[in-house]
Amino acid sequence: MRIENDLKLGFKDVMIRPKRSTLQSRSQVSLERSFTFRNSQKTWSGVPIIAANMDTVGTFEMAVSLARHKILTAVHKHYSREEWQAFLADQPVSIFNYIALSTGIGEADEEKIAQIISDHPQIQFLCIDVANGYSEHFVAFVKKMRQNFPEQTIIAGNVVTGEMVEELILAGADIIKVGIGPGSVCTTRIKTGVGYPQLSAIIECADAAHGLGGHIISDGGCKIPGDVSKAFGGGADFVMLGGMFAGHDESGGEIVEENGKKYRLFYGMSSQTAMEKHSGGIAEYRASEGKTVRVSYKGAVESTVKDILGGVRSTCTYVGASQLRELSKRTTFIRVQEQENQIFGE
Ligand code: 5GP
Repeated sequence: MRIENDLKLGFKDVMIRPKRSTLQSRSQVSLERSFTFRNSQKTWSGVPIIAANMDTVGTFEMAVSLARHKILTAVHKHYSREEWQAFLADQPVSIFNYIALSTGIGEADEEKIAQIISDHPQIQFLCIDVANGYSEHFVAFVKKMRQNFPEQTIIAGNVVTGEMVEELILAGADIIKVGIGPGSVCTTRIKTGVGYPQLSAIIECADAAHGLGGHIISDGGCKIPGDVSKAFGGGADFVMLGGMFAGHDESGGEIVEENGKKYRLFYGMSSQTAMEKHSGGIAEYRASEGKTVRVSYKGAVESTVKDILGGVRSTCTYVGASQLRELSKRTTFIRVQEQENQIFGE
């Protein structure tokens, strides 16, 4: 046993210090970024926010709405080959810029993505997602996918430490998904005691990835637009959102009505609900590590997107960053013991 005494921080432990700035308005701030990925050698431009690959978030409908804002959607892995064909038959080619195809590491997953990519080689992003990215088997799978799909930009995760970020990048991944336990419907920390405070995970993993020319996604734990800014400020190249995009027209998830109020179901991908829906129940050897919750129905995702982008733009003006790219260089975090004033609730 060992104890690591270095301080590790989450979003709630910091604020961003304002800095003198020449920017007059948030309309002067550009949130678009352009990246060239280390292994695929492909270049991408857009707003580096990603809807999570959950079936109550990363739907085709979500992808269409978010693409209008140049935001990516990691489309969940439960659509069939035929559903992909039907979706892409109707779409303008620009949609390929804003979607990722998600997969697990099972044989059936592997077969399905090979078919979907052979049907639609224009798919740019492949998101290989497992709850625990520390297994050798996962690294071997990433290597194999790099060989099979040299043209695709590979996202792989989830991990929270620098050495594993490096290993996955060297195995062929371009973008590493960072986050174990911070998610809004995640119970990993409760069921297992495992995790890593998200802001420190971002800072450490970004450093490791950038050292090798790779990139990272901060995945999970953003509850408000200010957290998205903190994730970018900490060095995340992309920020993935689940809960913040749940509950909308585009989100999927059963609609329930109670006392005249509308809700949408939102659940973790390893919750009992998801396992019953997609894998016929919980396997005996594993506990469910996700919650099922009801989220107040929020209408079209458009207004949430504006709220998030407006918040991040405003952060940039507070620190004098005219482009999102400059935000982390201009960020000084101050450790705090308070956040917002909650006297009147939300
Ligand atoms: P949020 O933005 O809601 O805080 O976090 C979204 C992230 O939570 C997802 O992208 C994914 O990494 C993680 N997640 C989704 N479902 C589950 C689950 O059932 N269990 C765990 N441990 N994490 C989940």
